[in-house]
Amino acid sequence: MSDPAPGPAVDRLLDLDRAHVWHPYGPMPGRSDPYVVDAAEGVRLRLADGRELVDGMSSWWAAVHGYRHPDLDAAVRAQMSRMSHVMFGGLTHAPAIELATTLVELTPQGLEHVFLCDSGSVGVEVAVKMALQAQRARGFPQRRKLGTWRGGYHGDTFHPMSVCDPVGGMHAMWAGVLPAQIFAGLPPVEFRADYAAELADMVARHAHELAAVIVEPVVQGAGGMRFHHPDYLRVLREVTAEHGVLLIFDEIATGFGRTGRLFAAGHAGVSPDVLCLGKALTGGYLSLAATLCTAPVARAISSGEGGGLAHGPTFMGNPLACAVANASLGLLRSGGWAEQVARIEGGLRTGLAPLRDAAGVADVRVLGAIGVVQMDHDVDMPAATAAAVDAGVWLRPFRNLIYTMPPYVTGDGDLARITAGIAAAVAAT
Ligand SMILES: *Cc1c(COP(=O)(O)O)cnc(C)c1O
Repeated sequence: MSDPAPGPAVDRLLDLDRAHVWHPYGPMPGRSDPYVVDAAEGVRLRLADGRELVDGMSSWWAAVHGYRHPDLDAAVRAQMSRMSHVMFGGLTHAPAIELATTLVELTPQGLEHVFLCDSGSVGVEVAVKMALQAQRARGFPQRRKLGTWRGGYHGDTFHPMSVCDPVGGMHAMWAGVLPAQIFAGLPPVEFRADYAAELADMVARHAHELAAVIVEPVVQGAGGMRFHHPDYLRVLREVTAEHGVLLIFDEIATGFGRTGRLFAAGHAGVSPDVLCLGKALTGGYLSLAATLCTAPVARAISSGEGGGLAHGPTFMGNPLACAVANASLGLLRSGGWAEQVARIEGGLRTGLAPLRDAAGVADVRVLGAIGVVQMDHDVDMPAATAAAVDAGVWLRPFRNLIYTMPPYVTGDGDLARITAGIAAAVAAT
């Protein structure tokens, strides 16, 4: 990588950023300056001031193969030389067809039809719409609520927000705006019969008004980075099937190997009726999501009023995004991810274990390529981030959590740097 940009250029960019650019979940202008990134390659981000950081975040869990991967770059270039986009109404193309076919092959059994859309939140909206339309078509128009458990995160548009954790998802701020949904308590790490009974009871008691239950299987991501026992998914599968309630798995965060299985549903060996994918779908290159459903769900929707699914975004099935998703899935299919994730799991366990005894640490947990340090207080985000940056690592803590979801291609040396960066962030907050 070449010389750093001169200081004044960075200052000018930051002035303009402060003046005009909104950043996630922030006020305007932001509370602290973001870091200007010039380029990224492999697992490294190069800042405009010349510093290089090992990326512990995979750009919000998406860049599983790292940056500027030759296969992914080539796939985008090749597709661009044919067409970057065409509308999907009345037209189709090989990249989308190949992607849908591959997703059906790779995902849990029974999921046969694929709806492509722009982002994870929209993919969840589509899943909800599928569930509501299928229930209406089956003669249950009053079944239009969603059941879930606390601690979840499903996106930032309105229906997804309504099934986010009521506290973390700021439901108080949206009282009267968000549809009221039905919540069970936080899913425990261990299997407990009383919690299984609580889930079964929620579905049984509310079956008349529930269109679907939606959960993140095995790992709850942005809602708190919590893990739960996979057998709860079996309980949900049985009880929803028994009561004619659909089961939606949101694997936008867990899909494509992150938890050590290709899909987290694999930990429980169950298939949902509807599956949401996003984030790592394109290897972190472009925004794309996919919502898959079973043949019975598709049949019900297609036989109902309107005669189809009432959704069709402008950039549906974008060929560039599909092409790079196909290349990313090609890399995953060649199989190295499982060893990479297992190796990272081992490195995270070793590297984070000493933090169990550090001041202010409430819990340390690792699953697959996910390492979490939970503090007993909310993290001072600018201070923790700066400490990690000084240690040469990019982290983005939130609430009381300092965590990493590194790219699968992270080597042992860089992984040790990430765990050292986490330790520095812990010490700084
Ligand atoms: C990130 C995420 C979403 C939302 O995806 P966006 O692409 O940010 O809209 C939904 N569900 C889960 C589990 C996620 O992690």
